[in-house]
Order: sequence, then C-alpha cells, then structure tokens
Amino acid sequence: MTLVGLPADAETASYTITSVEPGRMSNRDDAGVHTLPFDVEYGGRELTITPTAVETDRGIVLLDVGPGGAVDSLRTHLRALGYDLSDVWLVVLTHHDGDHAGGLADLLEHTDAVVATHREEAPYVRGERDPIKGDGDRYPPVDVDLELVDGVRIPTLAGPMDVVATPGHAPGHVSVHFPEGGLLIAGDALVADGDDPLSGPKPEFTPDMDRALESVAELADLEIEHIVCHHGGYVAAGADRIREIADSSR
Ligand SMILES: [Zn+2]
Repeated sequence: MTLVGLPADAETASYTITSVEPGRMSNRDDAGVHTLPFDVEYGGRELTITPTAVETDRGIVLLDVGPGGAVDSLRTHLRALGYDLSDVWLVVLTHHDGDHAGGLADLLEHTDAVVATHREEAPYVRGERDPIKGDGDRYPPVDVDLELVDGVRIPTLAGPMDVVATPGHAPGHVSVHFPEGGLLIAGDALVADGDDPLSGPKPEFTPDMDRALESVAELADLEIEHIVCHHGGYVAAGADRIREIADSSR
C-alpha cells in the first residue's frame, strides 16, 4: 500500500522518494518500535531506506533520518502513528553517511530534537570533516548535541534501548539493542536488501571490513530474535543467523 499525501516531486540532488510503506513490523509484538520505510532512487538503483521510530515517555526517538527529502515520508509515517515531526525529541544517527543523516538539517526545521551520534561520527556530521564516502559534496552540516559511546542506555516504552558500538562500516557506527524484546536495530552493520534475507555489511561501502566483521561477531553474543536493517527493513532472524554470517566470512 502506498500512502497518499506525498508530493510526487519529493526530489533531492541524488535521491527521489518513490513510495512510502506503512511502518508494519511482522511477527513481532514489542510495543513502541515502528519502522518507517520508504523507497528512494539512488544512482539509478531503487533502495528501501528504513529509519525507525521508538516511543518514549517524552515522545519519539528517531533512529536515522534518511537522505535529503526524507522529511515528508517521515511526517506521513509519524502521523499514521499519531505523532508529528515536532514530537521527535531525540535523533540517534547510526553513522554519518548521507543516506542516514542527509535529511537531518531539514528535519530540524520542524523539531528541536537533540542530535546524538557516536563521538567518532560527530566531526563528519558537524562538517568538521568531509564524509568518508561520496565525491566531495555533502549534506548540510548539523550540530551534534550528544556524543554517544558503547553502553549508553535510553529508556523507552519498549524497555531499555542500549547503544552498541559496531564500528567498521563507519568509524563510529552504532547499532541499538532492546534486550527485553530481543530486537536489534542494526543500522548498516547488517543488511537485508541483497540475495540473502540477512547479510554482513557491503564490502564496497565498508572502509574497514575486518573491523565490521568483528562487530558482526560481537552482535552474535547479544540476545537477538529479530532485526531491522536500514537497508531492507525488518528480518525475522536473530543471533544464530548473525553468528553464521560472522563465521562464514572468516
Ligand atoms: Zn546506509
């Protein structure tokens, strides 16, 4: 189902939003976590991008934003959940890549949210360093209010949400883990848009593949029964499958 109300010409420099699907996560019952997937055309390819909204007592924590132009899709999804963009009080960026952080400056026109990312990612988001990938053009820099480290815990309606450092795809890449629901929001530490339902990070976009695979092995030690990937969305797979990925790439 494609939601109505999206501008047909929601176009940015390199991304075109082509459709928004409702944030339904099958086979799960954790309250308070919602995927916000939409399709974009990027470099001639159709990609599904999946930011995630987490409900808390004080509103929404948004995990990744998406590329420039994502705001309209996010608004559509949040309204379907009974929220508005202004209800986003915290944005956690898994890393600084443009398909995760490029729409952040736009989003902050609509909400006063606190911006958090790992301390290794902050200089790229702030514009003190050029993004590692891409050809020199960058998205509008944004101030980072809070620098995260491994182990930071945020209370949510789905229980505690733990920041897990998963470097490799980016120097300060983080994933988040909900121990009570056995849910991992992987960012790009794992992907779900390839031939396999779940795979390790894409080598062509991962500057430190060895470290990224160590991160995959570390994730396999967590209680995980289901996973959301920024690329590919919800996957009904858990720690066993993550362990297989880590072992097979040794
Ligand atoms: Zn990505």
